[in-house]
Amino acid sequence: MSPELVLCAALDAQRARLPVSEAELASFLRRHGPALTRQLAEALPRPRWSGVEEAEIPAPPDARPDTAALLPLGDYDRILVGFSGGKDSVACALWIADQLRAEGLDPAERLELWHHRVDGAPDEPPLLDWPCTEGYCVALAAELGLPLYQSWREGGFLREMGRDGTPTAPVTFETPSGRRTVGGSGPAGTRRLFPQVSGDLSVRWCSAYLKIMVSATAITNDPRFAQDARVLMVTGERRQESAGRARYAQTEEHRASAPSKGRVVHHHRPILGWTEGRVWGLLRRHGVVPHPCYWLGFGRASCETCIFSQASEWATLHSLHPERVAQLSALEAWTGKTIHRARSIPAQVAQGESFAPAGPWGEFWRRQALVRFTAPTRVRPEGWTLPPGAFHKTSGPT
Ligand code: SF4
Repeated sequence: MSPELVLCAALDAQRARLPVSEAELASFLRRHGPALTRQLAEALPRPRWSGVEEAEIPAPPDARPDTAALLPLGDYDRILVGFSGGKDSVACALWIADQLRAEGLDPAERLELWHHRVDGAPDEPPLLDWPCTEGYCVALAAELGLPLYQSWREGGFLREMGRDGTPTAPVTFETPSGRRTVGGSGPAGTRRLFPQVSGDLSVRWCSAYLKIMVSATAITNDPRFAQDARVLMVTGERRQESAGRARYAQTEEHRASAPSKGRVVHHHRPILGWTEGRVWGLLRRHGVVPHPCYWLGFGRASCETCIFSQASEWATLHSLHPERVAQLSALEAWTGKTIHRARSIPAQVAQGESFAPAGPWGEFWRRQALVRFTAPTRVRPEGWTLPPGAFHKTSGPT
């Protein structure tokens, strides 16, 4: 159990100031560390894990072939990591940063973390995103010394879902020289439907409209990449996650490539063949504290109220955050259709069993996830522990 997290939980329980200084940490640990660490370690469910996993999951015979050859990392002007705050995107950032350092290059000069906000601008109230995700991403990016840029479709999920004879909203993205907004004058259309729970992105519109198209729009319209630029887009899908992802190519030509402008954009998935154990191993080596949702027992970060959520996840969310579940349930009533083909959200809540952790440790992480993120994002690797959500087969996009 990491002493920094133990201290944070203890101080948070007393409603004390967070985060704490090194001097406060040392003094507290001298007095209370061993006893508190023992108590919390006993209370925390511990997944079985050997900690050593380097196996590579091979591509299936029907996998999509690569359509681009990865260049040496130093040949790209910019490397953009799609950064959701989930363990796989964090592993991508750590891995690429390690590779750059091994080539004698400074990650801070080439690597950027790109976070796509599903709910729209930072002042939009969260509907699908975990309330803590922005705070976690900002804090971890600062800790890693990497720039973080956010982007979103105006109005986010709710505006796109509620489209009724209107065009898809514009995209806003941050750049080193400020925010830019583009688009919004496309053909009018009506949606008024939840995305379908499918691996097919043409009907699972949330991933396509709120992440993939936002990312491509930002690359295409960022003045840094307007002419003669070599860009690498990195994302963290893994074959182990689903049969659909198992067939992904490792390196592809990105849709934002524009040969006539000299813009080369490659899409690379560096951890495609990794096991989950290898991902956790990398986070442990760097002492990265995983996103709060993993401490609440969720196996995937994604959106808090992801359309792929199963009964146990809805039941857990209902016990942790009933207002959010009620909002999604009201949207089901408004559209007259349920997210799940056969069962409404209340029916799934009733059917599932909550896995939310109890006691002060669970309450600490509930507040970190839903109220305000203040916990450390990095701890000493010797004290790093797996969160309860590790290896927990909960659902997420396929
Ligand atoms: S995490 Fe789930 S709800 Fe969120 S964009 Fe992806 S598929 Fe849609």
